[in-house]
Amino acid sequence: MKIYTNDNNTATLKLLIAANLAGKKIELKKATFEDVSAGPKALPLLEVDDQLSFFSSNAAAQYLFPVLDLSQNGQCQQMQEWEATRLQPTTAAVLMSKSVASDLKQALNSLLLMVDGLLKTHKYIIGDKLSAADISIWSTLYPLCHNKDYQKQYLAECPNIMRWADELGSAKAIQEAVQQWGGSVEGPFAPTSALGIPQFTNMVSPVGTPESQEISITAEEIEAAKENWINGVKNLQEPLKKQDVILPVKGRRNVLITSALPYVNNVPHLGNIIGCVLSADIFARYCRLCDYNTLFICGTDEYGTATETKALEEGVTPREICDKYHTIHEAVYRWFDIGFDYFGRTSTPEQTEIAQKMFLKLMDNGFISKQSVDQQFCERCQRFLADRFVEGTCPHAGCGYEDARGDQCDACGRLVNAADLVRARCKLCAAPPALRASEQMFLELGQLEPALRAWAAGAAGGWSGPARAVSRGWLREPLRARAVTRDLRWGVPVPLPACRDKVFYVWFDAPIGYLSITQCATGQYEKWWKKDKDYDVKLYQFMAKDNVPFHVVMFPATVIGVNEGHLLVDHVFATEYLNYEDGKFSKSRGVGVFGTDAQETGIPSDVWRFYLTSIRPETSDSSFSWAELGTRNNSELLNNLGNFCHRSLSFCANTFKGVVPDAELTAADYELFALVNREVAGFVQHMEKGRLREALRCVLSVSRLGNQHMQSSQPWVLLRGDEQDKARGAAAVCVCCQLAALLAALLAPFVPRAAARLRDQLRLTPDQLRINPENPSLIQYLPPGHVIGKPEPLFAKLEPEMLEKLKAKYAGTQSERAKKQNGAAKGAAPAGAAELEAAVAAQADKVRQIKSSTKDKAVVQPEVDKLLALKKQLAAAQAQESRGAQGAPTGVNDVANLEKAIAEQGEKVRKLKASTKDKSVWQPEVNILLALKKQLADAQAQPEAGQSPTSVASVASVASLEKAIAEQGEKVRQLKASTKDKSVWQPEVNVLLDLKKQLAALQVKQ
Ligand SMILES: [Zn+2]
Ligand SMILES: [Zn+2]
Repeated sequence: MKIYTNDNNTATLKLLIAANLAGKKIELKKATFEDVSAGPKALPLLEVDDQLSFFSSNAAAQYLFPVLDLSQNGQCQQMQEWEATRLQPTTAAVLMSKSVASDLKQALNSLLLMVDGLLKTHKYIIGDKLSAADISIWSTLYPLCHNKDYQKQYLAECPNIMRWADELGSAKAIQEAVQQWGGSVEGPFAPTSALGIPQFTNMVSPVGTPESQEISITAEEIEAAKENWINGVKNLQEPLKKQDVILPVKGRRNVLITSALPYVNNVPHLGNIIGCVLSADIFARYCRLCDYNTLFICGTDEYGTATETKALEEGVTPREICDKYHTIHEAVYRWFDIGFDYFGRTSTPEQTEIAQKMFLKLMDNGFISKQSVDQQFCERCQRFLADRFVEGTCPHAGCGYEDARGDQCDACGRLVNAADLVRARCKLCAAPPALRASEQMFLELGQLEPALRAWAAGAAGGWSGPARAVSRGWLREPLRARAVTRDLRWGVPVPLPACRDKVFYVWFDAPIGYLSITQCATGQYEKWWKKDKDYDVKLYQFMAKDNVPFHVVMFPATVIGVNEGHLLVDHVFATEYLNYEDGKFSKSRGVGVFGTDAQETGIPSDVWRFYLTSIRPETSDSSFSWAELGTRNNSELLNNLGNFCHRSLSFCANTFKGVVPDAELTAADYELFALVNREVAGFVQHMEKGRLREALRCVLSVSRLGNQHMQSSQPWVLLRGDEQDKARGAAAVCVCCQLAALLAALLAPFVPRAAARLRDQLRLTPDQLRINPENPSLIQYLPPGHVIGKPEPLFAKLEPEMLEKLKAKYAGTQSERAKKQNGAAKGAAPAGAAELEAAVAAQADKVRQIKSSTKDKAVVQPEVDKLLALKKQLAAAQAQESRGAQGAPTGVNDVANLEKAIAEQGEKVRKLKASTKDKSVWQPEVNILLALKKQLADAQAQPEAGQSPTSVASVASVASLEKAIAEQGEKVRQLKASTKDKSVWQPEVNVLLDLKKQLAALQVKQ
């Protein structure tokens, strides 16, 4: 047996102590870069033989000395879990930081006090017997207990820890282990990750302090676990019937979910995505998992000055701007797998009708007043100018920027009053505007305040912390009347003769978008939005903090004033802000990662969803970090979740031909179920309160419990033993597969693609994988005798090198990045064929080298893409040079050459595809083929010398292209019908799309 370790790693100490107690000889080996880059990235690694190795140090310690755990299995595992997820990361963070932040210090102190409390009443961590938990905790605290400075700082109030540490430390087996370990309490301390990737822990979440009585499972919990195991499937409610148009259903829980409507004039960034649409989507998927009757809507917010400004900048109409960005938003959300029931927009006739109706009703009820407002007016354009439409010299001392806007100066960043601008001018025509009085309609918020306060006092219980804080801030002072109309063109017209040139202010009509979008989705919005005696609807709204006032003050005031029984929001789930690395995401300056960027990284959408949820700013601002994205993917998705599911299913597939074995469950199994059920209950509780990050944590705990069960029951040993052992091994495999099925259900809201793949591998339907929110627990998802499908890995590793590259790529602002790219393109453009040939050769060398060092497509593919791009440029340059030298007629030759090259390349692709399913191998060749085909089409489309543009040749190619499209279309249909594996049919779809593009290009030319 060998342990691979780095220097001064306290987790290695755990293993050595366990081995010493068990009397096992162990060889200690320094891990080299190669050892580590081939295997898992966590150290130490315990290698038992070729077949078996452990990279969780607690599981390894248990393997080495299982007897330490026999007495009180559940308690010991729970303590070790706590040690691994709370104590160890916090201690490591303290030991490895130069100056310790106060919240970190506080977190460690509270953990230590908890341990001290346990040791006050008992000799050891769990009662009066030494257990594996003692060894784990003792090893982790070794530097703290034996370094005088740390002792003084952290253990001054923990006499019981010191007593216990000294006592254990005097044991011979432990002393020998410490000697073999050879580390120093002076540091520096090794990270448990081998290559120095920082291990992150979330300090802002409440640090758990399991009380000793909470650790032990009660008899009631075990009884309930048993009951749910036996009758849980039976007790699920009837699956909800699918409706073509989703309307509330009597006798079911009806849930209406909205995500704040994104403003249409730009591309959403990751902060916007986690704050609104992704959070709402995770919740909506959870609701469907519980079989709630769910309607999830969203859409683009399209009216207002910002759209008009953007239209002006791009030289198009506001409608065109909206169409363009609506499409971009929709595509970004589709890529992130946001499963809206309907994604609409606010610039619709439905919006006009409902907004006007509500406004007139407010007026009837006496909540609208008229006031005169001074505003900038341009004589030449004959229109009032919104603040953004007035420009001039910044009035702030020391700035003097000449292109400051009427709302803000981009040079000094300060707010500006349009009337204060020096030498103000109209943004449209540059004429100087003048102040002119204009009559506007106001909503009398003050009159609505008492009713609003009464409602908020009762409703705020269902709101998230940030939402309550904002609401309290707003209601602290008396509310003032607020203008609901403006002198603008792009908006919902005000339905009064005196207001012919006015539209509604966007703050007033945007929330009405929820109603009009529901109308577009169902044709009967009032069924959802007005109270009905026959059924109940609960309204859940997701948004970022800055949007809260409109949802808890302004819109509710409108609804109360209209007084027609509209729904008021029950749950406002607002988030704080997400920062980018060390700065802020900024749409206007283009800082951070945007929805379209995420797609280009090649990192699957599931990984983005998982990571963004794990840093969701629920209680305070949080930060996006590329390094952390990698760590979470590799340690949690891949090592914890992915490996557990894949190992469990593989045991079932390999040893039992895929038939889930019968299990005689023991008391210990039901204890495990009871522990799992605590996590499932936690998952439901957190979800219902909109704490998605905490819910995800519970899912990961289920997987950790599963991993622990597999490590401690060791089916790979049992299945080789006698009949009794074999039965126990079969039971362990059955339990692990059932836990994998539970995970397929719990993961569905967060990583829908991976969850669906796992579900397919388990051969279960979505109806079979539901949760009972009334009684959340593990149920027998896999019926006796159920046969599962072929296990496949669910997640892939992300290389730190690639993440470093991405971090560099997305540094700075979007315009800086664009400049960098343009610069590169310009530098390469004038290159001749000879230079390009050299570049292609050099790049090809590089690709070969990388391919020999790694199989990771994420690393290889960008270089391959570069190579392909160079090859394309080379082909184009060669074609140009030959055309230039020999005149037009060579076009015919080009066509013949290209046809030959295509035939050869086609053959190559066919052979490759027959030999391997690995897309990373054949995709580059397919790309070359596609590029060649495109060149051929271009060559054919080029009118030859002496022929008219509508040459016979090109007409012929239209006909042949149409034929090719029909054939290719048929091929795609057949492939799609035969398999769901996108990697099989996507290349054919690409060929089809390419053909269609060629046809369109030809038709335009003619
Ligand atoms: Zn300024
Ligand atoms: Zn003007």
